[in-house]
Amino acid sequence: MQIPLAQKSNGMYIFGSKDFDGVAELVLKQYAPYMFEKPQPLRIEALADEGYSLSITDRYLSQHGTILGMIFFDDKIVRVVNLDKLVADERFMSGTIAIDARLLGEEHQHRRRFTVSHEVAHWIIHRQMYYADGPKYNLRRANRFIACRVSDAGRDKRRAYWTEEDWQEWQADRFASAMLMPASVFYPEAYAVMHRRHAGHYLLGDCGSKETADVITELTEIFDVSRTAVRIRLKQAGILRSVGVIVCD
Ligand SMILES: [Zn+2]
Repeated sequence: MQIPLAQKSNGMYIFGSKDFDGVAELVLKQYAPYMFEKPQPLRIEALADEGYSLSITDRYLSQHGTILGMIFFDDKIVRVVNLDKLVADERFMSGTIAIDARLLGEEHQHRRRFTVSHEVAHWIIHRQMYYADGPKYNLRRANRFIACRVSDAGRDKRRAYWTEEDWQEWQADRFASAMLMPASVFYPEAYAVMHRRHAGHYLLGDCGSKETADVITELTEIFDVSRTAVRIRLKQAGILRSVGVIVCD
């Protein structure tokens, strides 16, 4: 599938904010068309496999859980701890997604789903930055993989100081969110849930609003995503307002 966007000289696509929704829905129409039949969870692992021939594996990727996921654009040997807690140098093939095994527990299910989606997003929108056989990009890259850290995306830095990697992380998060909660399905469903729960035309993220908490809970269940992911998606459309640092629901 061709991505209909201009690219920078490093091969990175130039996404406007609506472009994440547009391109993510092109992917879903091709590989997960059921997503447009009714609001439901994306089967992201099936999309990764059937759409892009990506294989997903679980390993302990760092000593303290700072690396959530990795994606390999070329074969690479990396030292990891396998599920039997044995340290081993392991060869990962191009097209492998490795997810930190700490996310295997039921309580991390949403985080794992989002991390898988984020790695698939890297494959869809960033792999052209790593391939030497691409038209012109990045023969200079020695490491043809991405390791995604817990606090990536330069959240504590001003955008003016973001590195290429910070932009990649930010784009992958936006794209993952647009696949898991496709705009043309998610927003009408959000308004429908709000209407059913008499929540008004927009939601307040402050403490004490039971309607807001209930709407977020219902959307979390419908799309099988975390409350944080739903909140961010609602905020992107201005539906959830004045969310402070304190989270109460
Ligand atoms: Zn990443």
